[in-house]
Amino acid sequence: MRRSRGLVCECLGAATCPDGAANGTCVTQPGGYCFVAVEEVLDDSGLVVVDRTAGCLPPDESGFMQCKSSQVPHQHPKVIECCFESDLCNRRLQPALPEPPPDVTESPGAGGAGGAPTLLLAAALCVALLAALAAALLLLRRRRRAGKRPPSPPAPLPADASSGSGSGLPLLVQRTVAKQIQMVESIGKGRYGEVWLARWRGERVAVKVFFTTEEASWFRETEIYQTVLMRHENILGFIAADIKGTGSWTQMLLITDYHENGSLHDYLQTVVLDTNSLMTMAYSIVSGLAHLHMDIFGTKGKPAIAHRDIKSKNILVKRNGQCAIADFGLAVRYVAQRDEVDIAPNTRVGTRRYMAPEVLDEKLDVTNFDAFKMADMYSLGLVLWEMCRRCCSGGKAQLVEPYALPYHELVPPDPSFEDMHACVVRAARRPGVPARWLASEPLAALAQLMCECWHSSPPVRLTALRVKKTLAKFRTETTVKLV
Ligand code: ADP
Ligand code: MG
Repeated sequence: MRRSRGLVCECLGAATCPDGAANGTCVTQPGGYCFVAVEEVLDDSGLVVVDRTAGCLPPDESGFMQCKSSQVPHQHPKVIECCFESDLCNRRLQPALPEPPPDVTESPGAGGAGGAPTLLLAAALCVALLAALAAALLLLRRRRRAGKRPPSPPAPLPADASSGSGSGLPLLVQRTVAKQIQMVESIGKGRYGEVWLARWRGERVAVKVFFTTEEASWFRETEIYQTVLMRHENILGFIAADIKGTGSWTQMLLITDYHENGSLHDYLQTVVLDTNSLMTMAYSIVSGLAHLHMDIFGTKGKPAIAHRDIKSKNILVKRNGQCAIADFGLAVRYVAQRDEVDIAPNTRVGTRRYMAPEVLDEKLDVTNFDAFKMADMYSLGLVLWEMCRRCCSGGKAQLVEPYALPYHELVPPDPSFEDMHACVVRAARRPGVPARWLASEPLAALAQLMCECWHSSPPVRLTALRVKKTLAKFRTETTVKLV
């Protein structure tokens, strides 16, 4: 039974007390919860200290999920306890941080007999975490399908959030980064959130603030960025991820390098490329994609990753003229040991305009990871086409096509799935290649490559590695000719 009035709770900490007051009391909405949380944080001198906060949580699932969050078995150094029996019930709560788990990597006997129980424990923990994650995502998806409002985010952190190998920064430092950020201005909006230019220790960084309904995307993107060996000069550089707020609001943040030129889509609106800069950009994008798609074997190996939303808005232009692939909210990883894709993939995802024919036709074989890579290659073909239109050829510097989205002449501005299906599958249309491209060697070479990328038969399409090698060869040959 829901109480008709709110609970009075003790509050500690300006972030959770009403109007930013230091300590005191707060009142929940009817049915809400009181909580106490303890968390490991770094103080100004870099020492790990335990931070205690208390306050009010919202009613129903959103508060309940936050109360449950610390039961997920991960290395998240935060424990939260809730109560709702009486006013100020949180005064008697004494949550305690768990003992840190034994460090498997540093155990001298990890490979021998003494290391086996530790390894087993670690493996069991991993399995439990993955199961919890899978269950949470499944639940979320069911709710969405049923048209219900999704719960506010639990506060899980990615499985290997504390390892520095993929992300560069250990978890505790990431949490400190998020606390030290000053937002400057909003620079972009996408499907999952709003991107801000912010300052961190005098440097410019980009902060993606996810909409509260998009915790699955935040979680996914953070997890992908923290994949071992993910860092590459043509993949957006990840700095930190965190969830802020413990009261009735929650913000999910993803902090990355900032690129002032913005997305390739925005850049191409105004800038005319020469063939050198076109080749540099194309080569860098396909290098990023080849790295993403590649699996690297070994204990610290990298799983193959497919992006599933390649488009010019998800590619950023760096100052040095190269590009970086961004927005991994839909990416999937291939777990080689189990021959499995790591999340149950929904086939109808991505941006409709850039969807491969087999995605539009709902014929993509989700059990075959290469199929996801082939669909990425189709989208890459369309991006190459967008870039070539903006590249001048021959002597007439300004002779370029105006910027356009792929299929701009064939489908309406916000095409439906049906519009795209009719155009790309039934009519088998593809973007047109202007005659002027064929008179320019680099443009003709790229035109040839894009056609081989957007072939209607997925296995016929080029792989990212093949395109990369062809472009590398082309670039060395033309440099030799110019000398
Ligand atoms: P969404 O998942 O919501 O689509 P994105 O990560 O694609 O979010 O970002 C949305 C837009 O914000 C991009 O198209 C781009 O214009 C801008 N943007 C994103 N990240 C950066 C960044 N690191 N530097 C500069 N602009 C960015
Ligand atoms: Mg995007």
